[in-house]
Parts: sequence; structure tokens; C-alpha cells
Amino acid sequence: MERLTTFEELRAYAGAAPRPLGLVPTMGAVHAGHMSLVERSSRECAATVATLFVNPAQFDDKGDFARYPRDAEGDLAALAAAGADAVFTPPEREVYPAGFATWVRMGGPALPLEGAARPGHFDGVATIVAKLLIGALPDAAYFGQKDGQQVAVVRRLVADLGLSVRVVAAPTVREADGLALSSRNGLLNAEQRRGAAALHRALQAGAAALGEGAGAAEAACRAVLAKEPQVSAVDYVALVDQATMAPWSGQGEAMLAAAVRVGSVRLIDNLLMSAD
Ligand code: AMP
Repeated sequence: MERLTTFEELRAYAGAAPRPLGLVPTMGAVHAGHMSLVERSSRECAATVATLFVNPAQFDDKGDFARYPRDAEGDLAALAAAGADAVFTPPEREVYPAGFATWVRMGGPALPLEGAARPGHFDGVATIVAKLLIGALPDAAYFGQKDGQQVAVVRRLVADLGLSVRVVAAPTVREADGLALSSRNGLLNAEQRRGAAALHRALQAGAAALGEGAGAAEAACRAVLAKEPQVSAVDYVALVDQATMAPWSGQGEAMLAAAVRVGSVRLIDNLLMSAD
């Protein structure tokens, strides 16, 4: 696996790589969810570049950035094992050079849910994703449905900037009890970890109630969360259109999304569903 640390190296690698080229952006703390994206890219593409950069611009909470798990050597080994041909690990100054002043400001699908709870988060995501897509000009870019709003934001970004890349949303990888794999799960103690499984159970209960309408789906989801003592707060439960993140109108693919706090750890998850 080649290691690239500058945009010049990324461009040179991508320019010479066999096509199609797949790109898999990550912030490290690599787990089986990230690895499933790399594996899928390496099945579908002739070459795969994974990126590993803990992007300070997408953390609205600086404590969260400081606490974010970092294990560069473990991450590199995991990405190589999953089939990455190259990994781009730029230092912060490469991504945000002195005097940096150019931001992608996202509206539309970036505004509700995570966008409302975490001001500036999606501008940070969109800016780094735009830089990576422009740097590598991949044929396909792989993202996890776990961050369903991020998928909608990236699709909007690609359409609006006129980029020529296929955005692939890969299914969420879960633990046996349904908890979505996340780098934040490691911050939970044993009791919190058990309680965190209520998030997926709640979304399933919401999905089962969708036949009775959007309100019933959200209420069923909230009812399960309310019963779990380890869930200390519910930031939101919302049934939205998968592409726009606006409240679901009853047409097209819906996404039931929720964000909760378990202790001081914030967890998000979602399920895609349709009325029929
Ligand atoms: P992150 O490092 O958290 O920014 O995640 C990098 C990519 O992995 C994003 O596209 C995430 O949506 C995706 N991802 C994170 N967790 C999972 C999971 N449990 N299953 C599938 N993809 C995931």
C-alpha cells in the first residue's frame, strides 16, 4: 500500500492509477464499517485510495476532536488488509495551509438534524470532501449509510459542483445486538454499551409503525428510547426524505434518523424505508 501525504502525491497517484479508481474517505479509528467500504471499492474498482484525516473543521465540539481515537499504525494495517492500494494521510497544514480562506457552505440537506445540532459540521465535511474529490478525481466515492445525512450532503455537493463521480452509499455494519459500529462506541462503559443497542431497536420499532404514518413512526421510536435508562437525552427523531432531509411527504424513500446521548457519548443511526 502506497502512502501519500501531499495533494501533489495524491494527484500523481490518481493520474497514473488504473481506472476505475475508488476513493474511501475516513477519519481513522478504522473498524469493520470502514473496512466494508474499502472492500467494496476494491471489488468494484481497479484501484482504491483510502484517506485518513481527522478533520478539525467538522468538529463543532473541540473536546470531541481532542478525544477522537487515533491509531495511525493500526489504521494503516486495517486499510491495507481491506484492500486499499494507497492511503492519503495529509498533515493538517496540507489540508488547511496558512491563510486558508475557502469554504464550501452547504444549505439544503445540510441544514436540519445534524446540521441544526452541530453548527458548521457539514461545511467542514463538504470542504474536505470537495478537496479530496478534486484532488483524486475518482470514478466512485464510498460512504456509509450509517451517516445517512452525510450521504445526502455529498450527493448534493457532487451535483452542485458538477463533479463526475459516482457516490456509493454502503449498508451500515452492525454489532450482533444491532448497534452500528462507530469509533465512539469505545467510549461507552459496559452498561452504556448494553443500553446503546436501544437506538437500533427504536428505529426498527419506528419502521414497523410506518404504515400508520410518519407521526406514528417517530412516536414508536421515541417510546423505545424513553424506556432505556442509559439514554440520557434524545437530540432528535425524524422521518425525512432520503435525498433532501426535509420532513417525509409520504413519497419516495424515507429515512428514519435519530441522535441520542448515552452518558456523554452522542450516537446517531438511521434506517431507510418506504411506505410499501
Ligand atoms: P468516519 O471515519 O467516522 O468519518 O467514517 C468514514 C466512513 O465510514 C463514512 O462514510 C461513514 O459513514 C462510514 N462508516 C462509519 N461507520 C460505519 C458503519 N458502522 N457501517 C458502514 N459504514 C460506516
